[in-house]
Amino acid sequence: MNYKEILERVMNNVRAEKSLGKLATYIPELGNIDPYKLGVHLSTVNNLDVGSGDNQEKLSIQSIAKVFSLCLAYKMVGESIWKRVDVEPSGNPFNSLVQLEADNGIPRNPFINAGAIVICDILISHLERPKDAFLSFVKEISDNPELTFCQKIADSEKSIGYRNVALCNFIKSLGNIKNEPEEVLDFYFCLCSLEMSCKELAQAFLFLANGGKKVSDEKEILTKSQTKRINALMQTCGFYDESGEFAFEVGLPGKSGVGGGIVAVFPGNYSIAVWSPKLNAKGNSYKGMMFLEMFTTETEASIF
Ligand code: GLN
Repeated sequence: MNYKEILERVMNNVRAEKSLGKLATYIPELGNIDPYKLGVHLSTVNNLDVGSGDNQEKLSIQSIAKVFSLCLAYKMVGESIWKRVDVEPSGNPFNSLVQLEADNGIPRNPFINAGAIVICDILISHLERPKDAFLSFVKEISDNPELTFCQKIADSEKSIGYRNVALCNFIKSLGNIKNEPEEVLDFYFCLCSLEMSCKELAQAFLFLANGGKKVSDEKEILTKSQTKRINALMQTCGFYDESGEFAFEVGLPGKSGVGGGIVAVFPGNYSIAVWSPKLNAKGNSYKGMMFLEMFTTETEASIF
């Protein structure tokens, strides 16, 4: 398969398409991004690395970070993690409050905000310095010592984070947050502010395409079974109430963020990251979805 050629062809097609959607201006700093950025990077388990466009420029990874925090927490606490967060698609927007009361404060899955906030709480309970440990974990899985949070974006989100404050306090009232909401939210906003390029994202996710082992040194990050489960959750919950659509159009497990990034994983083959900041109504990158749909159509390969 000539991935380089396919990537370039799809890139040209996507570039030519109308740029619909809107920036995630609800986080004021994200409103300052150039809406016409477009980058893609693909890393394969056979050590091929190909990229195009703005693939080496940093983006705010936002909810993509929820995959890293889940992997770290899963690695640390094992299967008991599923007592605190469920594994069902929510069919609701990422910041929805509606199901929590009926579900007794157990979020439907770890990728909606409610679930990711509970995962942050678990990490805080188990780690002395959760921000440092989280960053070290992402640096380790991506063989990249250069990664940093963006304080400006974290502060910007904190300044308007009323819904996440409501979610966290509500879950606390139902007994599923053990630490102080302020500390939990500070950690949550911080990890969402992590900045990575498409190239760095594709490389960081590659172990999920490789049975849980890093490709560079075969170090086990997660077991095969844990890896399967993370990929299953990305498949069913990675795009909130558009997860079905992504499975239907693209056919790969993946995760989006409101910074306009999307990462998808093809187990046994590759990881791919796309960035286009304008989002559709469900909060997923408009051109990012389009790119991946065209890419799996051209390669004629997906998990289905
Ligand atoms: N930090 C963002 C929020 O909580 C993450 C949302 C997302 O990327 N979908 O609103």
